[in-house]
Amino acid sequence: MSWLRVELWTAEVVYTGFGTPMLRGGIAVQGGFVVGQGSLEELRARFPEAEVVRKGRALFPPPVNAHTHLDLSLLPLYRGPFPGFLSHVMAHRERRGLEGARRGLEELLASGAGAFADIVFKDEVMDFLLGESPLPGVAFYEVFAPDPAEAEEAFARVRRKVEAWRRREGRVRVGLAPHAPYSVSPSLLKRLAQYAQAEGLPLMVHAAESREEVAFLTRGEGPLGEVYGRFARTPWTPPGTTPVRHLHALGVLGPKTVLVHGVQVEEEEVRLIAEAGAKVVLCPRSNRNLGVGEAPLALYARHGVELALGTDSRGSSPDLDVRNEALFLWERADPRLLLRALTRGGYRALGLPTPKLTRGTPLSLVHFL
Ligand SMILES: [Zn+2]
Repeated sequence: MSWLRVELWTAEVVYTGFGTPMLRGGIAVQGGFVVGQGSLEELRARFPEAEVVRKGRALFPPPVNAHTHLDLSLLPLYRGPFPGFLSHVMAHRERRGLEGARRGLEELLASGAGAFADIVFKDEVMDFLLGESPLPGVAFYEVFAPDPAEAEEAFARVRRKVEAWRRREGRVRVGLAPHAPYSVSPSLLKRLAQYAQAEGLPLMVHAAESREEVAFLTRGEGPLGEVYGRFARTPWTPPGTTPVRHLHALGVLGPKTVLVHGVQVEEEEVRLIAEAGAKVVLCPRSNRNLGVGEAPLALYARHGVELALGTDSRGSSPDLDVRNEALFLWERADPRLLLRALTRGGYRALGLPTPKLTRGTPLSLVHFL
């Protein structure tokens, strides 16, 4: 590309951060910068001499990886039934921690991500992300406490830590991640949700990931009983309802709530999510590797649920490049929906503004699929 000549870059779908993704959109570029954006027709009228360059499937601002577990970046990749994954993480727990998080953050930066949402399990990883991450995002502190007898003590411990970390917020903000409806007692889920709402803290919860989760919540059946029994002495009382309805009843769904996976959902639950203004992060490659099924994208879209994309951990995903999640779904979904989830949906889930490709944006911030 010559320094002064203007080119018009287009792709199957273009999202510039304004409005919604366009099928016949583009950007005008000159000398290493964006000099205009809009529909290809308008750009052609403005720059009649410019050459049109096709850039493949999609062109967009930096994508968001809206669900990572950076501390699991040194785990071997697991492929198999969902209940075995928890055992896989346990079996490799000595590889979990700061070194993995450092490696993971490097990989995330190399992928060109513009922001991230990480699940943080260890205090040292929270300290690291708050102090050293050059990438903006939310570090969600994970709470795993299934025994209702522990709820009070666990809540007090979490609150103490979160208060201290919030004083150090900068580029990375602090959120709360009650792990899942089967691994955090209902009383604790309720308290955490009330606390988060009072403090304006974002919440991230793994929910409706597998059929096993649904069976355990609705009927108290299946292999998750064994997992529960490893961490709780109080016998499990199934709430007798599905994961999303259970979370809704406990007050967990709200505009600052982000559900992760959302594979096993019925239409009524999608409606509850939409009404609450909660967001959903899809991790399609992790879902494939754990054999849990596919999230109903079209159903979410029909109800206007804001979707984002995440890779999940290196334990269930081959890399941390979130663009590969969109590519994985490319033939199966409306590409405009995927491009929105990859960018605007992710920034909205994190409470961040979407960067724009507009006059003056350096080309290093233009991404492609
Ligand atoms: Zn996860």
